[in-house]
Parts: sequence; structure tokens; C-alpha cells
Amino acid sequence: MRLSKMHLKTLREVPAEAEIPSHILMLRTGMIRKLASGVYGFMSLGWRTIRKIEGIVREEMDAAGSQEIHMSAVQPAELWQESGRWDAYGPELWRIKDRHGREFCLGPTHEEIFTDIVRNDVSSYRQLPMNLYQIQTKYRDEARPRFGLMRSREFIMKDAYSFDRDDEGLDQSYRDMYAAYEKIFTRCGLDFRPVEADNGAIGGSNSHEFTAISEVGESEIAYCEHCSMAATVERAECRDAEAQDDMDMLPMEEVHTPGTKTIEEVADFLGMDQEQTMKALLFVTYDNEGKEAGYVAAFVRGDRELNMTKLVNALGIPEHAIEFADEEKMGVATGCVGGFTGPVGLHDCTIVVDSELPGLKNLCAGACKEDHHLKNVNYGRDYEGDIVTDIKVLKEGDPCPVCGAPIKHARGIEVGQVFKLGTKYSESMNAYYKDENMKDHPIVMGCYGIGVTRTMAAIIEQHHDENGIIWPMSVAPYHVIITVMKPDDEIQAGVAEKIYDGLLAGGAEVLLDDRKERPGVKFKDADLLGIPIRITVGRGAADGIIEYKMRRDADKTEMTVEEGIRKALETIDEEK
Ligand code: ATP
Ligand code: MG
Repeated sequence: MRLSKMHLKTLREVPAEAEIPSHILMLRTGMIRKLASGVYGFMSLGWRTIRKIEGIVREEMDAAGSQEIHMSAVQPAELWQESGRWDAYGPELWRIKDRHGREFCLGPTHEEIFTDIVRNDVSSYRQLPMNLYQIQTKYRDEARPRFGLMRSREFIMKDAYSFDRDDEGLDQSYRDMYAAYEKIFTRCGLDFRPVEADNGAIGGSNSHEFTAISEVGESEIAYCEHCSMAATVERAECRDAEAQDDMDMLPMEEVHTPGTKTIEEVADFLGMDQEQTMKALLFVTYDNEGKEAGYVAAFVRGDRELNMTKLVNALGIPEHAIEFADEEKMGVATGCVGGFTGPVGLHDCTIVVDSELPGLKNLCAGACKEDHHLKNVNYGRDYEGDIVTDIKVLKEGDPCPVCGAPIKHARGIEVGQVFKLGTKYSESMNAYYKDENMKDHPIVMGCYGIGVTRTMAAIIEQHHDENGIIWPMSVAPYHVIITVMKPDDEIQAGVAEKIYDGLLAGGAEVLLDDRKERPGVKFKDADLLGIPIRITVGRGAADGIIEYKMRRDADKTEMTVEEGIRKALETIDEEK
């Protein structure tokens, strides 16, 4: 491609709306074009990289025995009502109506559609196992679309679904997909980590997220350097503090604690450790119609943090069906008092108690009375929970739940996720097969997603410097850029054409910067676009000499035209 003919609009300045490098650089290189909040189009360079990523995904999925199909983004509401997700998915589901008033959604994912395919087409064990995938546009009306392609409302996903006879079959399919994901993200040049994850709105029993390590990522992961434990913080189990079995329960005592609304304040005021206190977090829940369904009070030790994912899992409700309560309003119904809520005296709400609290003795808690706390509150004697389970965050420095070593945290970008669904969809949607004895069984399913557009953003996050992108060869929109210093100079133009033809003949993807721009502008653009190999044709052209430089390295080498072509083709072959 000749740059003089190419549609290319690069920006010198940083666009105001962009905060993170991938978003800034995609806008500055003109790879993407914003149409609305969280809705982007792709220009030539951007689309070429998307197609490269898709190509890698396709090769590895095909190699793993999955078959590509392509379903519509428009999905009838009936299928979602059958699975129960029409209500459960909440406002992220982009709902539309046709002219007859029939309801549809723009698919955020395709479990229902693929389950519908197999329930119609698969009847016998002989047809299993089966694995189908597609690379397709997804829609999620995200509450906070941001960071460009990182969290958009329209995005490209590869989604795959496996169908097996039994759990052993699913285990094998899951391992195959996991292995394919490791290959895909490695080929994309990502530094990533598979971590145990929560199943979220998709449902099922077991899951891993593939997380590209990055400061700007929205996933927080907890991992251990001494053993293999690695999980999203949402999911990570947290060890309970040791139970204080040998401690006696002291008589409960009300104390005046004026103005001590936070745990810090009350612990300071009473001269105790935060570990000797418990704190309340108060919520209101909603039903499917969006009406208030009830109140929830969650209790964790004073120095802990509440884990919202664990809480909604314990309550068995979707994340969008709960929010912080208006404490005054909740107080009228339940007796809670903002800043002074404890489990004693609370009524008419679901009390969720973190699993370690029953083992801890003589804690200090709010008294459900303005400016008062209770000392020596004990589980069983003074209060009970409707639900007792682990609802706390595994923080940095906490003991690893597997080996006890101090836990580390890191941030990352979730680029893919694999799930064991089990029979959730096959049972609710009636997808059964007959075994050798004509007995019916629900098909055992798994599902596997990769955010193609988010992967592109993650690659840029990990591969850039202050001058621009540094594409790994495998996903670069072009392999080589030939920068001609003086395109009007006949010798330079001739040499550049010769290199261009030689590289194209060798199968390389090449940009020829033949624009009538100053060399400085061209070098800046070459760095910004991040093309892995730059060949500069300048004064040396008369002697058949060019300058060869990798975008990722600082040094340049002079060599002959022939050497340059050979070296470029070899490098592309090794790295693509
Ligand atoms: P997140 O937790 O970031 O909202 P998710 O867990 O809901 O994502 P999945 O349902 O697992 O997402 O979807 C599969 C993949 O699709 C994700 O791993 C991610 O790479 C990508 N993805 C999900 N939501 C978005 C989005 N809003 N924009 C871009 N990519 C997305
Ligand atoms: Mg996910």
C-alpha cells in the first residue's frame, strides 16, 4: 500500500476523551472512529489488525476441533425467556422491538442460540462431543462504556460452545479450549495469566479468566508466589481468621460512642484493634420489575472489605438487582441506624454474616442506636445470620487460602474467559440426547469467549512507548514500512520501488511512505503506527544502501538493498 493513496488520518495531539494509551493511540493512528458512546467503527489499519487477531483465533479454534458458524446478532426474546435470562440479564441487555411489537435483543452472548441449535439437531450420543464457534459482533448496553475498545457497547467476540455427554467429556473440552486460549494469547504477543474466576451472569460451576497483565486493566487478580493459586479478587477464597474457641463470652455491654461512624473512629475511641470490631453494609434489593424486594445487612470483621460478587452469589440474585440502601428509609423498616448498625436489634431484613464472624468472640458492633455501640457481641448468643458464608475480599498480604504465604495483587485486562456450564441451559431449554440404551440425558455444556476488540486494546497497552504503538509482527497491520526521504529524487524513488516489489513478491505486507512530507513527519508517523520493520531510503540509495530498523529497537543498521529485503523477509517469517 502506498501511503500517498491510503486513507490515513493521524493526529498529533492527544484526543481529550481518551485516558489510556490504547484508546489514545487507536484514535491518534486513526484506527478507530467513534460513532457514539461505546460504539466504534474501524478504519483500514485498525481493521487489518482485527482481522489478524481473528485469523489467529480461527486457526487455533479450528486446530482444536471447533467448527465455525455464524449466527445473527438479533435474537428472539422467547429463547431468553426460556433460559430465564430475559429478566436476569438486566439493563445491559440491548432490547429492541420490531414493527409488530415482537421483542428481540441484540445478543450480548449466544448460549441460548447455540443451545437451540443442538436441541434441534442433536438427538444421539453418536453426534457428541461437538464444539461450535463464531466470530461475531456483540452488544452490551454497558453502564459505563469507557477506554475505547476496552469496554464498549458494540464489540467483536469469538464465542464457542461445547456439547458433551457427561462431565468427563466437558473436562476434556474445557482443557482443549484452555490450551487453545494459551496458544492464541501467546501468538498475540500478550503477557497473560489464566486465573480462577467467578461464573457471573453466564452461570455454571467452574471458570477461568485469561488476564493480560496491565495497570489500566479493570480486573484485579490475587495470586500467590509460593504456590499456583491465582484467581480474580471477585472469586478468590479468603481464609477465615482462627476461631477463638478457648475465649469466654463476656457479658454484652452498651457503650456511648458519640460521632464514631466509621470503624476507624470507633476502634480509636474504644482503644481496640479494628479486628475486634464488625461492620455492617446495608443494601436494598429489587425484583425483576425493578420494584424494591427487601433489605440486606451484610457483616464482616471491621478491618475486612465486603466482596460484592460473593454477596450476590450468596443471595442468589443478579448484580444489577442490589444497591446500597438509603439508611434512613431502611432504618424505618429494619431498625438500622446509619453508622451505628449492628446485628443485634435488626429486623425484617436478610442478615448475611461472613464465615469467620461466628468463630470470633466479644466483638464490638453498632447498637442500632445513634451514638452507641455494643461491646462483647457473640454469634449464637446475641445474633444469628440468615446466611453465613465467605463474603470478604482476599486482600494483598492476607494469607494464601491454599498455602498461607502472603497474597499479591495485580491488575489486568480480561481478554477471555472459559466456563463450565454443565446442564444449566440444556435443562432449562430442553437439550437432551439419547444414550446407547435410548435413555435421555441433558447435554453437558461449556462456553468460551474471547474479546477480539478488547484483545487489540490489550496488545497496545503492553506494546507501546511514548512515540506510539510497537506491534508484535503477528498482529501488525503491515510488516514493513519503507520511508522514502525524498520521493522526488529519482534514485530514491527507484530504490524504494525495488524494495517494495521485492518484499511484496516475498509475501510481506508493506507500506510505502511515498508522501511528499518532511522526513521528520514520516519518521514520527512510522513510530506512531508501530509497523515492526522500517526501511529508510535516503542518500545512500545512490550506492544501493538503505537503513534497517526494528520499531522495538533503538539502533539502526545500514545494509544493501538485497540484504534489507532478505533480512526483512526472514524476520517476518520467524515472528509472524
Ligand atoms: P467484564 O467483566 O469485563 O464486563 P464479562 O466477564 O462480562 O466482561 P464475558 O461474558 O466473559 O465478559 O465475555 C467474553 C469476553 O468478551 C470477555 O472476556 C472480554 O474480553 C470481552 N468483553 C466483554 N464485555 C466487553 C465489552 N463491554 N467491551 C469489549 N469487550 C468485552
Ligand atoms: Mg468474563
